[in-house]
Amino acid sequence: MKLLITRPMTAAVEARARAEFDVDIRADTRVMSRQEMTAALRDYDLVMPTLGDTFDASVFAEVANPRCKLLANFGVGINHIDVAAAHAHGVQVSNTPGAVTDATADIALTLILMSARRAGAGERLVRSGDWSGWHPTQMLGQHVTGKKLGVVGMGRIGAAIARRCHFGFGMQVSYIARSDKDLDFAAVRMPDLTQMAAAVDFLVVAVPGGAETRHLVDTAVLAAMQPTAHLVNIARGEVVDQAALIAALQAGGIAGAGLDVYEFEPEVPQALRDLDNVTLLPHLGTATEEVRSAMGHMALDNLAAGLAGDTPPNLA
Ligand code: NAP
Repeated sequence: MKLLITRPMTAAVEARARAEFDVDIRADTRVMSRQEMTAALRDYDLVMPTLGDTFDASVFAEVANPRCKLLANFGVGINHIDVAAAHAHGVQVSNTPGAVTDATADIALTLILMSARRAGAGERLVRSGDWSGWHPTQMLGQHVTGKKLGVVGMGRIGAAIARRCHFGFGMQVSYIARSDKDLDFAAVRMPDLTQMAAAVDFLVVAVPGGAETRHLVDTAVLAAMQPTAHLVNIARGEVVDQAALIAALQAGGIAGAGLDVYEFEPEVPQALRDLDNVTLLPHLGTATEEVRSAMGHMALDNLAAGLAGDTPPNLA
């Protein structure tokens, strides 16, 4: 059985992969080309793809009878893989839930605090050499403690964000999801996103990407938000209508935004980069050595099950 890993991994993950599998590890850190994806389906039994490797229906359609039987995605989000098309071609898909939860929630808190307290703009001011010193009305931001949080998608990551905000910052939590959640802290499920957007100080996006959630945060949702409110997106860029967000930020319709993900990633429009009231991170959600190794081991566990003819533990 031959395995293809589509990006360089941490040393621990590469060592295990080489010990347990007949593996090729692609050296390129960029997303796979269409030709590389069809070749992967044709020439390998097992593939570990990741974010941006767009295994859509047309890629599967090019490979009538794929040798590949399992796409063990490195990451929880699988909106770049057409799971129905994979299944139709006899390819199973797995992911790495749980391993990413705390690190991604930590990045959401980083963005809430940076956006509210203008940390990015403050850092730029100090670096510029133009800081003239502390004074009582310098760079006033928003207080975070005790404020209202709205979570869009109360899943693993949404709940980890809400828990941090509730216990750490005494925030009042509301959320939208497709079903009621049994949580160990107070949280109100709202009937509708626009209603929640109007009521909160921080709106945090934590739903999966894909057709169902594309532009869930649109002009109407942004218009409902208070001019003092902040939007944070750690989910997928396409969940937020980026053009509408830029317009809302330019017009002062909302106070700020903290983004880890972008609609046409890695392209970040100049209009967004020109704004001082937006904090821009390069998709750092899970970017720690421990978490990237844990994700890799989870993906390898799924592949090991596939190799042994067992059901991978994290099938999508
Ligand atoms: P999860 O546990 O599956 O949670 C997703 C939540 O979204 C669930 O509460 C689900 O509601 C809700 N939801 C799904 N579709 C919805 C819709 N149409 N309207 C309202 N709510 C909806 O997933 P997770 O592990 O928390 O991960 C969430 C996403 O975060 C991933 O899919 C990934 O794209 C992103 N992510 C980003 C990073 C990063 O580096 N920035 C890292 C990891 C993950 P129900 O439970 O009621 O169905």
